[in-house]
Amino acid sequence: MLSTDPKLANSGLKFLPQSSSGSPNQELLPLTAKVNDKDALEIGGCDVTTLVKQFGSPLYILDEFSLRTAAAQYRDSFKKYYPGAAKVIYASKAWNCLAVCRIVDSEGLGIDVASGGELYTALQAGISGDNIYFHGNNKSAAELAMAIEHQCTIMVDNWQELKTLVELGRDRASFEAIKIMLRLTPGIECHTHEYIRTGQIDSKFGFGLDSLEAVFEFVSQNKELDLQGLHAHIGSQIFELQPHQDLAGVLMDWAIAAQKYDLSIKTINVGGGLGICYTETDDPPSIEDWVKTVAEAIAAACQSRNLELPELIAEPGRSLIGTACVTAYTVGGTKTVPGIRNYISIDGGMSDNPRPITYESVYRAVVANKMSAPLENKVTIAGKHCESGDILIQDGLLPRVESGDIIVIMGTGAYNYSMASNYNRLTRPAAVLVNRGEANLILQRETYDDLIRQDLLPQRLLNLPQS
Ligand SMILES: *Cc1c(COP(=O)(O)O)cnc(C)c1O
Repeated sequence: MLSTDPKLANSGLKFLPQSSSGSPNQELLPLTAKVNDKDALEIGGCDVTTLVKQFGSPLYILDEFSLRTAAAQYRDSFKKYYPGAAKVIYASKAWNCLAVCRIVDSEGLGIDVASGGELYTALQAGISGDNIYFHGNNKSAAELAMAIEHQCTIMVDNWQELKTLVELGRDRASFEAIKIMLRLTPGIECHTHEYIRTGQIDSKFGFGLDSLEAVFEFVSQNKELDLQGLHAHIGSQIFELQPHQDLAGVLMDWAIAAQKYDLSIKTINVGGGLGICYTETDDPPSIEDWVKTVAEAIAAACQSRNLELPELIAEPGRSLIGTACVTAYTVGGTKTVPGIRNYISIDGGMSDNPRPITYESVYRAVVANKMSAPLENKVTIAGKHCESGDILIQDGLLPRVESGDIIVIMGTGAYNYSMASNYNRLTRPAAVLVNRGEANLILQRETYDDLIRQDLLPQRLLNLPQS
């Protein structure tokens, strides 16, 4: 939890975690964040300003300890609060790359993927298909075939997909039923940005309740499909526990509805959605409290309906990795619009963090080389893209900032790298994994050559006269 010490209140020190054993999603900085004797921010035992000198800027800095701690808290809390079998799977769309897949796998978590590319990455990282769950509302036949070949579980979203799966199942040389779960739209609303709400009736995801019986009937009549269980995901960056509690009853009612068709529901997947702190006023429950609520709600819903406990799956993304990473940028110029605003320009922006321009997300920053300096300036941190909306922080409080200072934006582990683009042909940043004073590159910085790697010049254009 953040410090309430008034002596720290007016500097970047207030964002430091008070202990390294908290719930990572309730912090702003990674659990290992400290300030060293040069007044510089350290993460994973590495001085951030040194990392930038070594690996360049902008730089994603991923704290292995925070990621592993969040994974362990999910895993261990299910052991503690759920009497049946449970599994945590990482919603890898938050940040999918080889190193992250490996770390999460080594903590005993499964992986949820939402495209052939995410699936390919997980497989290349050595993840077994048994531990991969494939989501998406428009998976192609080729993507489905790839997932089936590796014995992944398919999270079926719609009729089209059910029919494609039956065809793919019939075409197979050896008969082995395809493991599926059904994604259903529970009709549960939660308070989060409308673009990241998925549980309401009007959603592009999942089967509506009106088609439930027909879907169960179809699945029961097609031996190519091996129904493992049911899934629902109500949205993302959620601070309330009640919607997750309500979901348990809805899911277990569906499990009863399936019995009529001789389908036994062995697994229940409650999705993800637990929020993280992006600012000091954000107040998400801890990972342990979230798990406790979900586990107890499912157990109670089973008991009151006389159902056996299913295997329980949760699939968090943001709350596993969001707080584990920060992005370091170098300050270029500053500009004052008298009486209106102070702008600070940094060397990245909407291409490495598209969340502010997409969802109006709010972030906090510190100056890594001036951690204890007083927060005396109201500044707007602008990216370098040709877009007025390319603002990462609007009117935030920072110390006096000069060109060359290192700005660190906190909470950038989820949906930053994974949503990054090459807008304005910026090269995407490198990422380093830090742990106990060691820093290892996990994503190389893109080069200009990478930018034109897929470009082609047809002969006709090559032959055009050059001016
Ligand atoms: C995105 C997503 C998640 C993870 O959501 P978070 O808010 O990042 O925890 C889980 N399940 C599904 C189906 C998703 O699409």
